[in-house]
Amino acid sequence: MKNVFNFSAGPAMLPPAVMAQAQQEFINWRDSGCSVMEVSHRGADFIEIAATAEQDLRDLMNVPENYKVLFLQGGGRGQFAAVPLNISNQDDTSLHLVSGSWSKGAVAEASKYNNAKVIGEVVDHNGYQFMPKPAVADIDQSAAYLHFCPNETVDGIAYKWLPEAGEVPLVADMSSNILSGPVDVSKYGIIYAGAQKNIGPSGLSVVIVREDLVGKARQSTPSIFDYELMAKNDSMYNTPPTFSWYLAGLVFKWLKAQGGVEAMASLNQHKADSLYKAIDDSSFYRNNVHPENRSIMNVPFHLADPALDKVFLEKSKQAGLMALKGHRSVGGMRASIYNAMSIEGVEALVSFMKDFEEHHA
Ligand SMILES: *Cc1c(COP(=O)(O)O)cnc(C)c1O
Repeated sequence: MKNVFNFSAGPAMLPPAVMAQAQQEFINWRDSGCSVMEVSHRGADFIEIAATAEQDLRDLMNVPENYKVLFLQGGGRGQFAAVPLNISNQDDTSLHLVSGSWSKGAVAEASKYNNAKVIGEVVDHNGYQFMPKPAVADIDQSAAYLHFCPNETVDGIAYKWLPEAGEVPLVADMSSNILSGPVDVSKYGIIYAGAQKNIGPSGLSVVIVREDLVGKARQSTPSIFDYELMAKNDSMYNTPPTFSWYLAGLVFKWLKAQGGVEAMASLNQHKADSLYKAIDDSSFYRNNVHPENRSIMNVPFHLADPALDKVFLEKSKQAGLMALKGHRSVGGMRASIYNAMSIEGVEALVSFMKDFEEHHA
């Protein structure tokens, strides 16, 4: 098999060790003669897989007892609708920070279900995109929740601070940074993530929800999105995406073996630092996000001469560096360097970039 480094933003690469294990178990799981995807979700074997995955995720993220962990379908966007349906009514206000295209998408979806109000947006700061922290005074304390996306996958904009929202529950779309480092779950009302960036295959979304926010769904909420109903049924009110859940479980075990999210955080910082350094050290490449807001998961960059984009993509592909094309809405390049991306992968990219610059500058 061709040895490549895959920088896809999502669905993204998974840890090679996990893929090898899944392959080994694929057609004969636990000596049953079946694949895990061919057995009932109600059987003891799968229930054990499901429960273990939940416990491992709880351990990794230090999820407090008063939070439910749900394994749902519908991806990240499913939660754009599920959140307002579960914790707001049509006349309620939801507050939103817009730091890029995903948090913007969340506003559009929430607007169908409540009064979605943008209270903070990315600004231009001397040619760099900067995300200002909203003032506490701007937080309407009667709002149903405050939604934000701490890591914008398309734009490569991140922020480490938490909005100070008083009693208003914080809802975070962590689709592209969950498990990339420690978070204090107790500060959030809801954390959700589509799986296909940092957890496992697409088809699964993880929702971590504080218990007082469970049981408030509107009458019209689809059952499969009703947090209370799903929690009561251990996320198995309907058939869950069993194979994705199983694979997520393998990723959680792998993360534990790597030293958990603390170990991941330092590895991820190291990878991101070396890539941003390569960009900053050259006038051939540019990243237009303010240093305080640079994502350590998704690193977009532009070539000074966009006419070279096509060659860059061709040559990088030939060098085994896959999926570096930026999102169509922003152009240029983007390297997604989630947990599963090794330091070797980032080093290979950096050395390719230097080489390319030497030949084309
Ligand atoms: C990918 C992504 C989504 C959308 O996920 P889907 O599973 O495609 O619905 C939402 N938010 C963020 C931050 C993402 O990275």
